Amino acid sequence: MAGLMAGMPSLAQAAAKKAAGKPSAPRGLDVIVLGAGISGLNTAWMLEQQGLNVAVLEGRNRVGGRIMTLLDQPGYPEMGFNSMAEGYGRGIDAANRAGVALEEVGARYRIGGAPGLYINGQLLSREEWARHPANPFPDAMKSMMPAEVVSTLIAKHTRLKDWTQWADAANAPLDISLYEWLKAQGLSDQAIHLANDVSPYYGSNAYDVSALMLEYNDGFVKAQFAAGPKSLAVKGGNLLLPQAMAKQLKGDVLLGKEVVAIETTATNATVTCADGSRFTAGRVVCSLPFSTLRHVHIMPGLSGVQARSVATMPYQPLSIAFLTATSPFWEEDKQSAGMWTDGVAGVVTPQRFGKTPEEISGFMVQARGAMAHYWDALVSQGGKENALAAIIAQIEAIRPAAKGKLRGAAYFSWVGERFNQGDWAYFSPGQVAGVMGELGKPAGRLHFCGEHTATGARGLEGALESSERVALEVLSA
Ligand SMILES: Cc1cc2nc3c(=O)[nH]c(=O)nc-3n(C[C@H](O)[C@H](O)[C@H](O)COP(=O)(O)OP(=O)(O)OC[C@H]3O[C@@H](n4cnc5c(N)ncnc54)[C@H](O)[C@@H]3O)c2cc1C
Repeated sequence: MAGLMAGMPSLAQAAAKKAAGKPSAPRGLDVIVLGAGISGLNTAWMLEQQGLNVAVLEGRNRVGGRIMTLLDQPGYPEMGFNSMAEGYGRGIDAANRAGVALEEVGARYRIGGAPGLYINGQLLSREEWARHPANPFPDAMKSMMPAEVVSTLIAKHTRLKDWTQWADAANAPLDISLYEWLKAQGLSDQAIHLANDVSPYYGSNAYDVSALMLEYNDGFVKAQFAAGPKSLAVKGGNLLLPQAMAKQLKGDVLLGKEVVAIETTATNATVTCADGSRFTAGRVVCSLPFSTLRHVHIMPGLSGVQARSVATMPYQPLSIAFLTATSPFWEEDKQSAGMWTDGVAGVVTPQRFGKTPEEISGFMVQARGAMAHYWDALVSQGGKENALAAIIAQIEAIRPAAKGKLRGAAYFSWVGERFNQGDWAYFSPGQVAGVMGELGKPAGRLHFCGEHTATGARGLEGALESSERVALEVLSA
C-alpha cells in the first residue's frame, strides 16, 4: 500500500506522522472521500469507525458545503441549511455525536405574523387581495396568498398513495410537469406564473420541475410534521456542526483541493486535483453535486441514466441578500416585518436571533428562479453592492418607512458558488421514474453519496441517509 502514497506528499507526511512511535509501517488510504459537506464528513466518520483509513478532499477553503453560516454577522444568518425537523433522527444524532447544541428556532419565524403581500408595489391584506383585479386565481382560491397556492394544492390533491415509493417506475405516468398538473387544477398561465414562477421552491419555473417530485416532497414534509412541530438549528450557527464533525475525524480533511479527475482501475482509484496533487486509495466516495461533478474528468466514463443525470441534472437557482436595519421601520409603519413581493425585493424574512426571540437581528432576502439570475446579473455588472443597492431601493420604494434604514451586509449566490452551481438538485418532468435508483449506483471503485442520491429523506437528512447507504456499500464491497 505504501507505493500508492507516491505523489501525495501531505497525506504521506500525515500518515508517517501518525505512525511515528507505532511499530507498524504507515498504511495507505482505503478510501478517499470527495467533498467535506455533511454527507462526505459523515461517510468518512462511519468508515473510520470500522477501522478504514480515510482522507477527505474539499475544493473550498472551508468545510460544510451547503451548510454555510455568516459567523461575522449579527444573529449568525444561515446562507444555506436552515433547520431540521424533529423527525431528522440522523441529523439530531450527528449533532449529538459532534457535541453541538440544537435549539428550537421555528417559533421565531412565527412571531410578527405572516409576511405582507406586495403586488406590483402595493401592500394588500388577504381580504383586499381576494377582491383585487390582479388576482388571477380561480374563485375558490382567491383568498390564498400566492406563496400558499402550490403547496396547498399539492398537499390536498397528491396522487401518491405511498410517497416513499415515489421513484418507482409504476409512477412514470405521474411524472408530468408542475405546469401541466397546475393547469389540471384549473389555474391559468398568469396564476401559475404568480403562484410558482415568481419564487419557485423547486426548479426555475413550472415547466421544468416534475409534479411527482413535489408530491414526494409533500409526503416527506407531512411525515416530518407528524414527528413533531419543532424546527431545530445549531446554537451559534449551523456551520459549527460540520466543523465539529471534521474535527472528529482521524484522517486528513484537506482544503483547497479541487478535484478535476477521477480514474478507477480493477485494483484502485486515483484522484487528481487542480493543483496537480494526486491521491490513490482502494475506493473513492464522491459527494460532489452533479452540477460540479459534470466538470470532472471520470475514467472510465459513467454510462446510461447515471451519465445522463450527471451531465444534465438541474440545480435550483437561489440567491440571498442579508440586510441589517439601523432602526425598526416596521414599528413605524406598523406592518409585518416580512414581505412577499412579486418584484426585485424577492421574499423578505426577518431574522429574530437577537438577545430576545422578538428582536430582529437582520433580514434574509431570497430570490429564486429567474429573479436569482437577475440579481446575479446585477452583481456581474457592478459587484455585490450593485445588487444589494437595487434590492434595498425596491424595498424603500414599496415601503417608505424603510428609507435610509437598511444596510446591505452580505450577498450569496448559490449558482455563482463554484463548488455548488445551484442550490438543491431537482427533477425535470420525465426524469424521476426509473432514474432515481440509478443515481447512486457504484461505478467500479467509484461510489456516490450526497443529497441528490437520497431516495427516502430530503435535504440534510437525505444527505446523511446517502452517507449511511454508501458506507455500507463500501464496507461490503
Ligand atoms: C439555502 C439553502 C437552504 C437549505 N435549507 C435546508 C433546510 O432548512 N433543511 C434541510 O434539511 N436542508 C436544507 N438545505 C439542504 C442541505 O443544506 C443540503 O441537502 C446538504 O447540506 C447537502 O449536503 P451534501 O453533503 O450532499 O452536499 P454539499 O454540502 O454541497 O457538499 C459537497 C461538497 O463538495 C465540495 N465540492 C464540490 N465540487 C468539488 C470539487 N470539484 N472538488 C472538491 N470538492 C468539491 C463542495 O465544496 C462541498 O463542500 C438547504 C440548502 C440551501 C443551499
